[in-house]
Order: sequence, then structure tokens, then C-alpha cells
Amino acid sequence: MRRHAALVIIARVQLISALFAVLVPLWSVVDVLVFDSHTAAWLVVLRLASAAVFVGLAWPRQVSPSHPYLQAVIMLLIMLMVPPAFYLVSLQLIDASALVNGQFLVMQLYAFMPTIVLGGLAIFPLTALEILLFSLPVLGIAVTGMVSGGAELALDQHGATLWFMLMMMGVAMFSGMSQSHYMESLVHKAMTDPLTGAYTRRSGTEALELMFRLSSMSAKPLAVAFFDLDRFKTINDQYGHDAGDQVLCALVERLRQTLRRGDVLVRWGGEEFIAILPEMPADQMPAFLRRLREAGFGTRPDGSPLTASIGVTESLADGVLDWPVLVELADQRMYEAKRGGRDRAVLPGDVSVPLGPAAV
Ligand code: GH3
Ligand code: MG
Ligand code: MG
Repeated sequence: MRRHAALVIIARVQLISALFAVLVPLWSVVDVLVFDSHTAAWLVVLRLASAAVFVGLAWPRQVSPSHPYLQAVIMLLIMLMVPPAFYLVSLQLIDASALVNGQFLVMQLYAFMPTIVLGGLAIFPLTALEILLFSLPVLGIAVTGMVSGGAELALDQHGATLWFMLMMMGVAMFSGMSQSHYMESLVHKAMTDPLTGAYTRRSGTEALELMFRLSSMSAKPLAVAFFDLDRFKTINDQYGHDAGDQVLCALVERLRQTLRRGDVLVRWGGEEFIAILPEMPADQMPAFLRRLREAGFGTRPDGSPLTASIGVTESLADGVLDWPVLVELADQRMYEAKRGGRDRAVLPGDVSVPLGPAAV
């Protein structure tokens, strides 16, 4: 979920930065028209420097596979800090006591930049706390600007400006939170199978890709268990499709309780599931199977135990370099388990372990 929010934030930062990279230098025309040549020259330099930062942010880049959220936060923070910093530096450049009409108006516009930035936060899916944290440095700069700007820059309006900024922050919080919630529900819906609540094959593939990359980077094992229920079709044939559906739901419920927190359960096909098991070395698999056996897979409508054939692979023990091979191999071992008489697991090294009561 955080990964999805991070991707949205990065994409929006890049889009807005690309827009600002063009608009910010263009506004130089106004500076040149309004201010004296010395001040205008410095403002143009400042604009070019800001544009360079925006170009840097907008530049196409890879999203960090391990820390996408950190990357999103850093990019957003950099983007947010540019306008307030511009405002702060421009205050030093412009002699506020000598401003004439047009100049005063433009300067007041610049003074609104931190406020606009706070309002701009509303387009990002952030939590209330995140909005607060992002707002603090912007508010800090705005207040510094107010204090250092001197009485000429409408000191009597400062109270109203601050109030306006806080209101903007409130609006951004409300909007960010509702975006986050909406996105969360959409992502959750898109990622999970409506019948069982397990992850869909598509989101499972994404998770596999990411988890495989992370575990190879840290040289940790990643295991995959491929489950296919035994003689499931007979349940449908004898008791109807709905009864079959109920058995599938009960199975997922049970598996969830057996799996660890970081494990991911995916509905790979109709009655085929894969469990992605990070940091599970081959030598922990007997204990994993014992837990599965103790919890069971539920019962068939006639009361007899539901059984499954399982193929298990582990990236390091099997020397696998890519996740599709890991799944393919687990699938082959699952078929081997079927051939071996069902109700059993085939582990790395092609060790076949019976799961039924006779095996306990
Ligand atoms: P085997 O032990 O060889 O695996 O026998 P099986 O009957 O389980 O054979 P197979 O795995 O080929 O059967 C898959 C069956 O699962 C076929 C289909 O009717 C059923 N199925 C697939 N998806 C669903 C579903 O969403 N709900 C229900 N009720 N049945 C499903
Ligand atoms: Mg099947
Ligand atoms: Mg089956």
C-alpha cells in the first residue's frame, strides 16, 4: 500500500516539477519588467537555480525497489522547499522599503508562495501526520520571511496570512487523507480475489518480483509453496459449485492463520495457491509442513479432511536466479506430489514428505 502511495507521489512530483521547470524561468519576464536591472538579474539567477532543481526532480528515474517511500518523501520535500526558499532569498534581494506599486504586488505574490505550497500538498495521498510534518518546514520559512521581511511587507497582514496558511494546511490534510483512504480501498480491491480475499495472481506476481529482488540483494532465501487441492473437482460435482467456493474460503482462512506475518498468500489459479515465504531456508521446511499439517486444510462437505499436494522451492537451496523459475519448479514438484499419491509435499532435493495422518 505504501509502495503504491509512493509511486503516486513520485509520479506527481515529477509532473509538477516538469511544469515548474518551464514556468519558473518564464516568469523572469515579469521580474525584468518590474524590478531594476540589478535586482532582476539576481532574481533570474535564482529562477534558473530553482528550475535546475525542478529539472533534476522531473528527470526520468528508476523508483528504488527497496525504499520507494523514502525516495518519494525526499523528492516531495525537495520540491516543496524550493518555492519557500525562493521567497526567503528574494526577500534578501529586494529592498522592501523602496518598493513601488507594481513591485509591491509582485513581492506580495512571492510572499504567498509558502501558502500555495501548503495548498499544493492537497494533491498528494498523504496521512494527516505526514501533511503536518511536510508543512512544518514550509511554515517555519514563511514565519522567518515574515519576521525578516520588515514592517513594510504588510506586517498588519501577517496574522491573516498565518491563519490562511493554517486553513490551507487543514484543507490539504482533509484532501490528502480522503485520497489515501480512497486509494487504499481501490488498491485493496484490485489486489485481492473477491471470493477468498487472497492476493490475485497479478498482485502476487508483483509481490514475487519485489520479494525475489529484495532477498537476492540481501542473499537471503525466498521460498515458494505451490498448493493444488486434491480431487477438488469431485466436491463441485457432488455438492455444487457453491459448496466448492465455501471450501476455498475456509481453506484461505486456515492458511492465513498458519502463515507468518510477512508471508504472502496468492490465489494462483482456481484451486491452486502459492505461499511466498521470505527468509525461509530449506531446513525450516519440515517445521513449516508440521504447522500446515497441524492446522489442516479444512474439511470437504462430507466431513472428510481436505488434502493438498504441495511443491516447495527455495531460491538458495535450488540455486534459482529468477522468480518465474522458482514458481515453475514449485509447480513441477506439486505435480510430482500428485504422482506420488497426493496429500504430500515435495521439497528441495526432491524429498517427498507425506502429510496425512499416517505421516504424523
Ligand atoms: P487433482 O487432485 O488432480 O488436482 O484433482 P482436481 O479435481 O483437484 O483436479 P484439478 O486440480 O484439475 O481441478 C480443478 C477444479 O477446480 C476444476 C474446477 O471445477 C475447480 N475450480 C476452479 N476454480 C474454482 C472456483 O472458483 N470455485 C469452485 N467451486 N471450483 C473451482
Ligand atoms: Mg488444479
Ligand atoms: Mg486440484
